[in-house]
Amino acid sequence: MSNPDLIYETIILGSGPAGLTAAIYAARSRCCPLMIHGLQPGGQLSTTTVVDNFPGFPEGINGPDLMEKMKLQAKRFGTQFVEGDVTKLDLQERPFRLWVGEELYRCLSLVITTGASPKLLGLGNEESLYGKGVSVCATCDGFFYRDREVVVVGGGDTAMEEAVFLTRFAKKVTVVHRRDSLRATPVLADRALGSKAINFKWDSELTEILTDSSGVTGTRIKNLKTGQETEMNCDGIFIAIGHRPNTSLFEGQLEMDKDGYLLTKNGTETNISGVFAAGDVQDQQFRQAVTAAGTGCMAAIQAERFLDDLPYDSEFSCKKGVCKPKEQP
Ligand code: NAP
Repeated sequence: MSNPDLIYETIILGSGPAGLTAAIYAARSRCCPLMIHGLQPGGQLSTTTVVDNFPGFPEGINGPDLMEKMKLQAKRFGTQFVEGDVTKLDLQERPFRLWVGEELYRCLSLVITTGASPKLLGLGNEESLYGKGVSVCATCDGFFYRDREVVVVGGGDTAMEEAVFLTRFAKKVTVVHRRDSLRATPVLADRALGSKAINFKWDSELTEILTDSSGVTGTRIKNLKTGQETEMNCDGIFIAIGHRPNTSLFEGQLEMDKDGYLLTKNGTETNISGVFAAGDVQDQQFRQAVTAAGTGCMAAIQAERFLDDLPYDSEFSCKKGVCKPKEQP
């Protein structure tokens, strides 16, 4: 239960690699972080199988295990955790105010790491097939499709990058795109179009993912011009139709780009001083666990500096070394 009389020095929203790294750094610098995370902690990595590209794990590590380790590390230095979705927040006044349902939390600095969610096709069984043939990240899962046949859905930069990347492993890569021209930037489009290892199915969409007890076995594809449906065998389906940043909560309070990603400058600063954003919520381009962790670290350091710069006689000064929430005078 929240104590509305308390003012936390730092609240971190979201518990993916960005949030947990921010928590480790903030807790170690005694900025007394409170992490508020949703019902499924760990962000996108909690739904990934093996993570092979996070430095320090030569044998790879399961996504959920990696997130659990990061959480234990954040806990070890004193991070407190609250489970629940923030339903409302007010960044116009200080301290900032956040509500989880009826519970009020207040803080001097805020680190937003609410991430982004991959857009899905809406075929019903997509999410339950994560790790069993459906993937939203070729960088994460491509390695598991050595000598297999894969389908990539989408016509943007991500789809082209993923298709080209997958040619390193898969014996057959088919891009299925709903139009007859690509949205991707020319350099990426040309690379994919010029690859002999990639086939294109234009004007087409997936209407069904075919499975057996082991996972994906194929897909049903509809040609949108002729209406004709065909079945195609494949072992993996990579959905690359874009991401949606989880920023609806901040609309009208924080500056975003046209796609809804939070705008940051000088590292992780948002347009409101004391509010920082890290990880996929502000990054359309890289979206890797390690880059998210890197920006989480930056956000915690910038939050600490922000707290340091608050005047000591201020009601909101950060009492460094006292690792408990500051009480309202
Ligand atoms: P995107 O540019 O929004 O492209 C999404 C693609 O998926 C589009 O081709 C779109 O089709 C298709 N699509 C969307 N909804 C669909 C649906 N329901 N069913 C079937 N297809 C659907 O997303 P993105 O490729 O992830 O790129 C996002 C941003 O990141 C872009 O600004 C991109 O430039 C950037 N990015 C850059 C790089 C790089 O520079 N190396 C790499 C990756 C991403 P339509 O074309 O018909 O709309």
